[in-house]
Amino acid sequence: MAVIKGGAYGHGLLKIAQIFDQEKLPFLGVANAGEARKLFEGGIQTRPYILGATLPVEREEIAARRWTPCLCSFEELEHFNQLGRTTPIEAHLALDTGMGRGGFLPEHLGAALEKLRSSPGIQLTGVGSHLPVADEDSAFTRSQFELFDTLVESIPKPGSHFHIHLSNSAGLLNYQSRTTNLVRPGLLLYGISPIAEHQALLKPAMSLKTRVSVINNLPKGHGVSYGRTILKRDTQAAVLGLGYGDGYPRSLSGKGGQVLLNGTLCPLLGRVTMDQIIVDVTDLPQCHPGDEAILFGKDLLVTEIAAKAGTIAWEILTQITPRVTRSYR
Ligand SMILES: *Cc1c(COP(=O)(O)O)cnc(C)c1O
Repeated sequence: MAVIKGGAYGHGLLKIAQIFDQEKLPFLGVANAGEARKLFEGGIQTRPYILGATLPVEREEIAARRWTPCLCSFEELEHFNQLGRTTPIEAHLALDTGMGRGGFLPEHLGAALEKLRSSPGIQLTGVGSHLPVADEDSAFTRSQFELFDTLVESIPKPGSHFHIHLSNSAGLLNYQSRTTNLVRPGLLLYGISPIAEHQALLKPAMSLKTRVSVINNLPKGHGVSYGRTILKRDTQAAVLGLGYGDGYPRSLSGKGGQVLLNGTLCPLLGRVTMDQIIVDVTDLPQCHPGDEAILFGKDLLVTEIAAKAGTIAWEILTQITPRVTRSYR
């Protein structure tokens, strides 16, 4: 399953869906009916899988268009059973093995299976669970794999097309299961590893770029940007045409953020503004208006930017705003 929720992690939902549609995957993982509808309207053939609990208002459309939900509660199970009266709905069962975001707790699995046996409107075609700390806590994650495998082994599985899935990117990179036959990577597909030691195997798909608009010679003691960060030396300050209105995090202000300009890392000066940022190019041999600046990409990882901004790569990628022109190569 290719996870393409969040507008394919900011890469463009439909463009990325079109690429994965050629791979004949069983599912494209989306967040909700709204994202699934965009795939439907864009002519995507691969079946959408709704990764989280569904809202009551979404379920009729999910049933009618044969998207695959994961059943997270008895309430959802009963509702889908009703909606599937004429044509049964293919659905997966979500187990909560530690995420606490929806799914049946291990002690309720028996009751859920019992309920499903008397629910002709639902055809169970898979079972899944999610990992909260696969990139942080290997002891917990190993025990979670063991629990999931044990639970799955107790479920009667109808036919060979029963899908069993647990891993996100970090789970796929670092753990193994006895039972699963499907994985759900997201971040990894876009060339970013949630675990630094594996990054060398990957090439980031997205680069965020802008250009220099003007270079100002400012004296020591002059202020820069909102809040007037005071310069400690005479400075050549290049202004770049991008800011938090494009999704570049304002929280990078004063946190040692850097930008790649003509192959050299240049420090951010002062606060990130809505439409512009200012960087120190005093030490660059050459810098001119129109020069390209890279905010992140393969030589300046979004993971590093995220860490300095106090967040994670997933958030930076998904928050690049529509104002930024996407160009695909
Ligand atoms: C987002 C998500 C994934 C993908 O996670 P990555 O860490 O980006 O690989 C997998 N499964 C579920 C349920 C998710 O919500």
